[in-house]
Amino acid sequence: MRIAITGVAGFIGANAAKHAISAGHHVVGLDNFYTGTRSNVAEIGTAHFEFIEHDVRQTLPKLSVDALLHLACPASPVHYQRDPIFTWETAIFGTKAAVDFAAQANIPVVIASTSEVYGDPKVSPQPESYWGHVNPIGERSCYDEGKRAAETYANDMRRLKGTDVRIARIFNTYGPLMCADDGRVVSNFIVQALRGEPVTVYGDGSQTRSFCYVDDLVRGLFALLLHPDPVPLPVNLGNPDERTILQLIETIEHCMQRKLGQVRRPLPADDPLQRRPDITRARTLLNWQPTVAVNDGILRTIDFFARTLKMS
Ligand code: NAD
Ligand code: UDP
Repeated sequence: MRIAITGVAGFIGANAAKHAISAGHHVVGLDNFYTGTRSNVAEIGTAHFEFIEHDVRQTLPKLSVDALLHLACPASPVHYQRDPIFTWETAIFGTKAAVDFAAQANIPVVIASTSEVYGDPKVSPQPESYWGHVNPIGERSCYDEGKRAAETYANDMRRLKGTDVRIARIFNTYGPLMCADDGRVVSNFIVQALRGEPVTVYGDGSQTRSFCYVDDLVRGLFALLLHPDPVPLPVNLGNPDERTILQLIETIEHCMQRKLGQVRRPLPADDPLQRRPDITRARTLLNWQPTVAVNDGILRTIDFFARTLKMS
């Protein structure tokens, strides 16, 4: 198949492109390098891959493809809060452009939504039926509400026009090809540890997240995109293995076989206290579940950053 991937220079996009090419597909990748890198594009290689520099806030260019994986959007809180208007526009206009493209080409599209649509959840684990608990005017809102509005548009296009839209609600994902300065917790902690610096704990470290290794996530995204039938309901993709931030530090310490220093920083505004996916729907509908244990994934990620930092 010929598959278009937006956000291909980013962390998940580059991993998704590599996965698709190794499965025998041809990939057309789009990105504007807002957070993505040319080194990630180089990592994808040139065989069965073409790249188009493009800002998804504009109409997508004419492409001859069989399916579209729409990932373009800054995802790390430090990145999406840097220019909230850009993030809001990318989430909403970018998703509109992707869905409109799929409608016109009559192809399936997966849009990357997020566990952030649940906000600071009062229900745990979070099933897709949970409506969430989101601050509409806070520092995270450009992203959270942008993604919620994107889901609304995608779903209305499915209901009114029959567009084959599939919604992936992605939970915290980590692994190789993250940027060293990405700002998210796994990359921050591993890079800080490898540089011999103390890890930066925001708040008291009792907040939880559930961390999914990128290979598992990408497998889930393609199971959703290539499912033979339309998938009308949103699907959570994530690893239900929930840990506190302090437990994440213990996992990294175990993998590195040494204690890490810690410094405390204030908890960012509206930082969710807990997050854990209910993946029953992904299990039953896509026959998907994560297979990489957090210890193994963290070891592979340490190995990736050790090599990356040595080269820089
Ligand atoms: P990333 O920042 O590494 O990659 C995003 C990519 O999109 C970058 O290459 C960036 O340059 C590109 N981009 C941003 N705005 C663009 C625009 N206007 N036009 C064209 N390209 C643009 O982030 P990621 O972790 O790879 O996330 C990919 C997608 O998955 C995002 O939509 C994100 O919301 C979603 N997601 C990720 C996670 C996670 O834990 N990684 C969790 C939930 C949802
Ligand atoms: N966090 C932290 N130290 C860091 C980066 C993040 O303690 O250096 C915390 C952050 O406050 C949040 C959790 O780790 O509670 C996950 O943060 P991340 O930015 O990775 O993702 P998100 O908040 O979007 O889930």
